[in-house]
Amino acid sequence: MLVVQGASLYVVGSMLDGFAWQIRSLLVPTAAVSTATAVLVAWWLGRRVAGRLAEITRAIALAHHAESRDLLAKRAADEIGSLVESVNGLADSVALRERRILESALSDPLTGLPNRALLADRIRQMVSVSQRSRSGFAVALLDLDRFKFVNDTLGHATGDLLLQEVARRLRATARESDTVARLGGDEFVLLMAGGVDAAREVTRRVLDAMKTPLRCNDQLIDIGVSIGISLYPEHGEDDVTLLRHADSAMYSAKRTRSGERVFDGDAGAVRRSYLSLLGEMRAALESGQFVLDYQPKLALRTGLIAGFEGLVRWNHPVRGRVPPNEFIPFAEQTGFMREITQWVIAGGARFARVLADAGLNLTVALNVSALDVENPEFGREVLEILRSQPIDPKRLCLEITESGVVSESDAALKNLLAISRLGVRLSVDDFGTGYSTLKQLQQLPVDELKIDRSFVAGIHRNRGNLTIVRSTIELGKQLGLKVVAEGVETVEELRCLARLGCDEVQGYYLSKPMPEADVVGWVEMRHALYLSARETYFEMLAERR
Ligand code: C2E
Ligand code: MG
Ligand code: MG
Repeated sequence: MLVVQGASLYVVGSMLDGFAWQIRSLLVPTAAVSTATAVLVAWWLGRRVAGRLAEITRAIALAHHAESRDLLAKRAADEIGSLVESVNGLADSVALRERRILESALSDPLTGLPNRALLADRIRQMVSVSQRSRSGFAVALLDLDRFKFVNDTLGHATGDLLLQEVARRLRATARESDTVARLGGDEFVLLMAGGVDAAREVTRRVLDAMKTPLRCNDQLIDIGVSIGISLYPEHGEDDVTLLRHADSAMYSAKRTRSGERVFDGDAGAVRRSYLSLLGEMRAALESGQFVLDYQPKLALRTGLIAGFEGLVRWNHPVRGRVPPNEFIPFAEQTGFMREITQWVIAGGARFARVLADAGLNLTVALNVSALDVENPEFGREVLEILRSQPIDPKRLCLEITESGVVSESDAALKNLLAISRLGVRLSVDDFGTGYSTLKQLQQLPVDELKIDRSFVAGIHRNRGNLTIVRSTIELGKQLGLKVVAEGVETVEELRCLARLGCDEVQGYYLSKPMPEADVVGWVEMRHALYLSARETYFEMLAERR
């Protein structure tokens, strides 16, 4: 029994040995193959991941270069795929931010137009292109007329809308190839390839386009523009000079209200022509070629003529009747204004005497240049004229443009105080076109505000102008000033001004400026008509359309 048991254990033992051997001989190659496969897979995966990571690292490194950045391809929906997606998102937002920073550094945030820095760069590019192609280009600097006043009266939000609308209009009017930029404030620049004729064609279109009132917040606003043009290479060979010369031409356009001016060019030639004109002006004054025409002012409350404004004209033997805007700026630049002004005030004072002698209690207003007010002798010169021409000083009024009235100089203030102490009236001419503030006006001895004619035009149908004129009249009343509206051309404008409480009106509706000799007869005729049909005047004012 024991032997049998021992034998069977032996058999089982040897069978197990056989199995173990068999298993070992099977396991060894399997383990070897698995290990090799695992090593291979690990090596392959490692390479793949390392490759993608290297790609991602490169993408991150390039993410801040907006132009050189390529989006990574997302190849699988695994963790690496998600990482790729995040890196792509990061690169996108960096690029977007970079573009925005670049754009805001080079464009004007309000209008989206190129700013001064980008404009300067474009001018420099045009210079190098023009040097190679031997062609020219033009820089036109545009400045809005009366913007400060509109901005102050209607508020800065409206001012901003207005600038955006101007930008749109300029972009729509300029040619595709022109650069339209905003320098700041109410100054814009057009950069145009080609010569003066091509540039003027564009600026003429701009001037035309700006004639249509701009619509801002349901208000129509009339805003003029003055343009100065400088040309490459004639007027400058770099951005700074070209812009400076365009600016000086723009000021000349503004002063003369001529809309547009090309830079005068060679200063020597200009000075020579000034000198010959100066000689001509002196001879003209001595030989009686200058005359004063007079335009009436109507007192709205009474319907009677309140006075006249004297306007100088030059009866030139060759050029005919030259309007003041064509020679006053020359007179100012050559220092000849002083002589013209003395002649004008003396002529006006003499005429005030003629009117008084004819039994007419009328005021004579005369224009004085801002430069005259700066002349320390001016107050004394006015006093001397009054001494030689005994008239009631209250019958004389001096109209000075805003810039002359609010000049910061001591001499100007002393002159205004001295003249006002004499009893002579002081009026702020073309009010709304300059830069005066309420505070400045309060401190000055002025008696009258004369609203610029650009605000009066179409006042009955233009809400922007209406708001401006209404608030000017209110401002005048608060300051205790008389308010006069100039440039009244229609009965509708006159009625509207009467309703707003304006004191006096002047303009073609009443009469164009007339020769001195016609004045007394004209006033007598008008007053006789008025006396016979006084009611008609008030009916006409009350009439509504
Ligand atoms: P201002 O003093 O504002 O004179 C009003 C100008 O508007 C005058 O032009 C006048 O003829 C014009 N005007 C009057 N009513 C109307 C109207 O209903 N519609 C239009 N469109 N225009 C009207 P003018 O005579 O050509 O004078 C232009 C400017 O020249 C004057 O503007 C004034 O600044 C200056 N000026 C004239 N005479 C003198 C002067 O003796 N000395 C100085 N320093 N400047 C003068
Ligand atoms: Mg005037
Ligand atoms: Mg005026």
